[in-house]
Amino acid sequence: MDKITIWKTVVETLRINLSSANFSTWFPQTYIQKIKPLSSDRQVVEIACPSAFIRDTIENRYYGQIKEILDQITSCPSELVFVIKAKQIKTKPLPDNALFQKPTTPKQIPSNNGDLNNHFTFDNFVVGNSNNLAHAAAQGIVKNPGQAYNPFFIYGGVGVGKTHLMQAIGFEIWQQNQSAKVLYATAETFTTQLIASLQEKTVQKFKKKYREVDVFLVDDIQFIAGKEYSQEEFFHTFNSLYMRGKQIVLTADRRPEEIGQIEDRLISRFLGGLTVDVQAPDYEMRMAILKQKSRHRNKQVKEEVLDFIANQVESNARELEGTLIQVITQAETNQQELNLEFTKNFFGIKKKSQIRKITPQRIIAQVAKKNGFKIKELVGPSRKAPLIKARHIAMYLLRNDLELPLVKIGQIFANRDHTTVMHATEKIDRLFANNQELRHEIMSVRNIVFKQ
Ligand code: ADP
Ligand code: MG
Repeated sequence: MDKITIWKTVVETLRINLSSANFSTWFPQTYIQKIKPLSSDRQVVEIACPSAFIRDTIENRYYGQIKEILDQITSCPSELVFVIKAKQIKTKPLPDNALFQKPTTPKQIPSNNGDLNNHFTFDNFVVGNSNNLAHAAAQGIVKNPGQAYNPFFIYGGVGVGKTHLMQAIGFEIWQQNQSAKVLYATAETFTTQLIASLQEKTVQKFKKKYREVDVFLVDDIQFIAGKEYSQEEFFHTFNSLYMRGKQIVLTADRRPEEIGQIEDRLISRFLGGLTVDVQAPDYEMRMAILKQKSRHRNKQVKEEVLDFIANQVESNARELEGTLIQVITQAETNQQELNLEFTKNFFGIKKKSQIRKITPQRIIAQVAKKNGFKIKELVGPSRKAPLIKARHIAMYLLRNDLELPLVKIGQIFANRDHTTVMHATEKIDRLFANNQELRHEIMSVRNIVFKQ
């Protein structure tokens, strides 16, 4: 695959999860400048961005996602380097000449709601065992905004469709009443804009923006954990809307009570309406999602191929969709028929690239060394804060890079319970995307451990 095709695949995969506003702000003028092999099984991918601001934003927000996709499609672990290149390259990459045909019926999105993703509608939402309660409640809300369930709190793991469902609610309400103001924001955006408004002395404008809406969709509310000032402001925004019967929808990766570092009065507000979870899809749903996604992209994909993917990828809809896109792209670029054999091969290569002859001890030793601890301390029972952080990183690497079972990792670390390991890896996973320092630490351990 050449650089242009590789980058197209990356960007197409990213596009699934981004609002069109975000997508067109950050990615249009990016491209791969160079791919340099480091050794036989590692490479450096140099990504060109048009400005320092765009480079920093992409690196901070999307590093993990980009790396994951690159590793998969090139079957080679990559280090990413971001460089500034203002100059346009000859072959204009994206988004105009996107690989896929446009979706079948692009929906008009509310003009005052540029942040809604126009694919995230009820039409495109597959309903099954894992989400039918959430879906039914969402339908109830659309019929009776502000009345049926307020707030509506959706929680669940990554990629299971929380954002999709939440935006579908906003979109549908707007369709029924086009004067309704729908505002979608991630809790991160809310926080960032609040801070900016303080610096620019435009707090009144900020308040107005968030309080003069009919439907308020707040995604990933767990982000405000530990941020007292944001919580305070959010509490008042919430009350102001709630008292006037405006619909509020929230999502999080956990139940309200489990978020932690969040004021009790907020938790009780969150619990005041309806709280519903969305789970990972079962086989039937995975098949239905794959079918819906291929239809949506006007692609006919053989049943046997979809079945194979549905059996291999069990985690969530995002992963399913990403894999489907990658299989399709690779078949197209190699001009091969997309059949069962091709798909098996695709997964075979992916698997092989994941098997590395690295021992858990090597990772543990490296993390210990980097943080100035003895190995014995790192795997031992002490719960000192700096030790805990290093331990979480080590657990994360064992789980993520070596794919060791949770139970086994628990045994290595003084026989801790597998749920402890799970929480640790989930925590690092969440932080990875937003915390540059942490990411650099993890990358530097990887650099050393996976060097030869
Ligand atoms: P979350 O917010 O829970 O992390 P998203 O809503 O962003 O997940 O979903 C990830 C991707 O999977 C999106 O492209 C979305 O359209 C798709 N998806 C998730 N659930 C479904 C579903 N039930 N039907 C169709 N597509 C889905
Ligand atoms: Mg989401």
